[in-house]
Amino acid sequence: MKKRIAILGSTGSIGTQALEVIRKHPDYFQVEVLTAYNNIDLLIKQAKEFNPNTIVIGNEDKYDDLVNAIGLLPIKVYAGSDAISQIVEMDTVDIVLTAMVGYSGLLPTINAIKSKKTIALANKETLVVAGKIIQNLALENRVNIFPVDSEHSAIFQCLVGEGQNKIEKIYLTASGGPFVGKDIEFLKTVTKTNALKHPNWDMGAKITIDSASLMNKGLEAIEARWLFDLNPNQIDVVIHPQSIIHSAVQFCDGSIKAQMGLPDMKLPILYALGFPERLETNFPRFSFFDYPELTFQKPDMKNFKNLSLAFSAMDKCGNMPCILNAANEIVVGAFLKDEIGFCEMTDYIEKAMTKINYITNPNLDDLIETDKITREYTKSIITSK
Ligand code: MG
Repeated sequence: MKKRIAILGSTGSIGTQALEVIRKHPDYFQVEVLTAYNNIDLLIKQAKEFNPNTIVIGNEDKYDDLVNAIGLLPIKVYAGSDAISQIVEMDTVDIVLTAMVGYSGLLPTINAIKSKKTIALANKETLVVAGKIIQNLALENRVNIFPVDSEHSAIFQCLVGEGQNKIEKIYLTASGGPFVGKDIEFLKTVTKTNALKHPNWDMGAKITIDSASLMNKGLEAIEARWLFDLNPNQIDVVIHPQSIIHSAVQFCDGSIKAQMGLPDMKLPILYALGFPERLETNFPRFSFFDYPELTFQKPDMKNFKNLSLAFSAMDKCGNMPCILNAANEIVVGAFLKDEIGFCEMTDYIEKAMTKINYITNPNLDDLIETDKITREYTKSIITSK
């Protein structure tokens, strides 16, 4: 039987690559739901090609245009973020691919888990904000969360077949982004045009800025902690500019398994959707001889302070990762609008982490409130600078 898939965020970078993968494997996958926030032109095009049961547009102002464009096609159309959260409960959905940007992925993911859908998780912010709650919910509902993030997919692939064997630590690799090796004076002059040029990966704007500032690796460390039930001190970050080794696991006997390949998000997407099967592809193959040197170095936590902020948020736990994430989403937005500089992003996040009320054991409502007040606070200090 075909796996029936809901793609939340189908017009983004992960969403469009997921559809490329699905297009190549029509015998395995069927698109059941597509959702987008704003981009109705692409959503309409996707709907006409993949014939989903239902499509949802987040921005309600675009509902009428969408309905008109779909016309008499047998596709149900809804609008609004509540509709996105609810659509994952549909009986005819097997797998929910969460590929929305940032915090917006949280509530739909929670609903999908409660409805016992398999999760293909591309939205790392969900686990950053509410890792403990999500982990418990997934256990309670016996739901599998398959990672789509390339590093986490790598770790997951290394763990297949290992049963209860103990993990000593994991190595999360990072390309280091376009500014690896640069000093603080250089970083102060960085513009969004420089920061949006990632050397290896083709991704959306938010994650590309996060990669350049190393915040992405910090968020991934927190994501890994919850996905693989680790202590923060079991997670090491290794800068590996070629992005060939996608991450590695060191087991209790000292042996290390790593997963490697060319950097292409379609691979981890396909693995998450196809698991436990590996489906054939004609993607370009890696050649050892094209990469005579794979190099590794320590991350520069001093000049890229976001990484140390993320590790300290992970150590503190409670609502601190939620504060970190909300402040980061605001500062990245402000940086993309040229309102603040590259290094200022870190200063504002740090301020939010010291100013917002710390809660040791937050419930979901506490986290929703923390997210809201952190956004307001961070916006206010940016405006009044
Ligand atoms: Mg990643």
